[in-house]
Amino acid sequence: MHTNRLAGSSETALLEAAKLLQSGEAVAFPTDTVYGLGAHALDADAVQKIYEAKGRPSDKPLIILIHERAQLDSVASYIPEEAEKLIAAFWPGPLTLVFRKQPGVIPDYVTRGLETVAVRMPNHPVALALLQLADIPVAAPSANLSGNPSPTTAAQVESELSGRIAAVVDGGVCQVGVASTILDVSGDVPVILRQGTVSRAQLEQVIGKPVLDGTVS
Ligand code: AMP
Ligand code: MG
Repeated sequence: MHTNRLAGSSETALLEAAKLLQSGEAVAFPTDTVYGLGAHALDADAVQKIYEAKGRPSDKPLIILIHERAQLDSVASYIPEEAEKLIAAFWPGPLTLVFRKQPGVIPDYVTRGLETVAVRMPNHPVALALLQLADIPVAAPSANLSGNPSPTTAAQVESELSGRIAAVVDGGVCQVGVASTILDVSGDVPVILRQGTVSRAQLEQVIGKPVLDGTVS
């Protein structure tokens, strides 16, 4: 497979990328954190392409990227009060929130059988424009071979995934440079599942109560 490089600054190129996503292809694109590898979240073959291109372990669930709040309301069954505060403070931005999943919306092959769903709104004009044009739920982990560092340029994506995905949208260098903080808000106490640039102290300050750090034992 030839991996097309598309210019994130070109409306025509973004439309082409959106059409590739809609038609079930895996497409890499820039976000505020790192480059993501997106695919149509309601298309089992498309989602499978993410796992194959990355060599991703099949038990690892995928994050859903959204461009507007209404999409969250359809995929999550319950949005707790503290999550509302965090959304107001950090979205769009480098914070992924894990919610209880609305049954029958995001398929089990995206969340790998979990009863939760991880959602993020990236703070990047190219990512937001592409998600809006595609107008489908997009599942997107980082655009690297499983186990490798996350890419922050289109050239790094190509050196990882060239020949394995349909296209990469070039949007320059990702500003944040590390993957999002992941916070599970599906239970009684919020738990950090992955550390990113949004810190535990920042999360606690916004919600006014303690957050557990699930990354330390
Ligand atoms: P990646 O973008 O490749 O780093 O992968 C996405 C990350 O999100 C992985 O660390 C997953 O374990 C995590 N993730 C995705 N969905 C969920 C979920 N429902 N619950 C907990 N973690 C999740
Ligand atoms: Mg990753």
